[in-house]
Amino acid sequence: MRYIDQIDLKGKRVVCRFDFNVPLDEHSNIVADARIRAALPTINYALDEGAKVIAVSHLGRPKGRVVDKLSLNPVARRLSRLIGKDVTLAKDCIGPEVKHIVDNMKPGCIIMLENLRFHKEETDNNDEFAKELASYADVYIDDAFGNAHRSHASNVGITRYVKECGLGFLMKKELNYFSKALENPFRPFVAIIGGSKVSDKLHALGNLVKKVDKMIIGGGMAFTFLKAMGYEIGKSIVEDDLVDAAAHGIEMAKKMGVKLYFPVDCVIAESIDHKAVTKIVPVQEIDPNWMGLDIGPATITLFREVLDDAKTIVWNGPMGVFEIDAFSRGTFAMAHAVASSHALTIVGGGDTDVAVHQAGESDYITYISTGGGASLELLEGKKLPAIKAIEECGEN
Ligand code: AMP
Repeated sequence: MRYIDQIDLKGKRVVCRFDFNVPLDEHSNIVADARIRAALPTINYALDEGAKVIAVSHLGRPKGRVVDKLSLNPVARRLSRLIGKDVTLAKDCIGPEVKHIVDNMKPGCIIMLENLRFHKEETDNNDEFAKELASYADVYIDDAFGNAHRSHASNVGITRYVKECGLGFLMKKELNYFSKALENPFRPFVAIIGGSKVSDKLHALGNLVKKVDKMIIGGGMAFTFLKAMGYEIGKSIVEDDLVDAAAHGIEMAKKMGVKLYFPVDCVIAESIDHKAVTKIVPVQEIDPNWMGLDIGPATITLFREVLDDAKTIVWNGPMGVFEIDAFSRGTFAMAHAVASSHALTIVGGGDTDVAVHQAGESDYITYISTGGGASLELLEGKKLPAIKAIEECGEN
């Protein structure tokens, strides 16, 4: 595997794939710029080395059409402010205008190409499109962790046509943290897995159970396991086709000496509504017409105790419907518990990232991943397509 600091960049045209897929409000203002800031080490390094940086990214899901609201213009302006340099935004990501701008670049300057997903060839991993992007590059650097689990033209196809390819510093950091946790963790190693469905995280659960000492299962997915243990779970979210798999998982964990922890009480309501009447009940007493929407206070105490001696914690998925105040306490309590632990703490991206920020604990987590889907695939033990493509670059 090659990284950016092992490649000579001086005076070269360096196409850098970033994940600038930032949230925007209705006026196209950037709501959170963490993904732009996460790209700064790679951008600054390349500029300091005297490269001609051509930044490429997608934004949102324009599905192959030009959608003005999904222009990278606000991103180019924010990046310009962050690095104190002009960042010209080309009107497209391919075509004669791009070629003209690239041909006239000076070392140590940066341009940005317009949203890659304005062309459906990007997500199709179209060969011609990849070739055209590659034609702007002497060197290709992939630093888009959030997109690394996808096989697209700008992160997989392009590597077939650029001789020198490598990963950027964000990719390096993401891979280092996950491999630190998964390959050689300080023990006890505890995984906290939540979120709505078992099916989304079945592979991650199967891989993690081979690596951890303890596993906490909360959120909606806990109810499939509670059903497998014979509890009445009322109208709680459940995947009936996975009840047997859940029972099998519990047996497997027992055989492997992994301790599993499930909610012992929960916050229930008749509907997922901020005005709904709520009750806190032991999991043995869930009313048949009610649903479990958060972990209860006894569970919070139990889960906190489980984390007490942890040396490594990986957390993916909220403990309840944290978007609604009445069902957010469990997730926020876990955020506080993880943040105040003495462990190496790694939070998967997506909803868990949002929850940790809302709880005001983001500064006290060792590492928060910038990619929800990609980090989940690392927890599943998979090799990400974008990483594989960089490894194979040069073999063609
Ligand atoms: P995921 O994308 O799988 O990590 O799931 C995140 C979603 O799970 C959030 O939007 C939560 O609202 C939802 N969730 C968490 N706990 C529950 C629950 N007990 N019932 C229904 N949805 C839940």
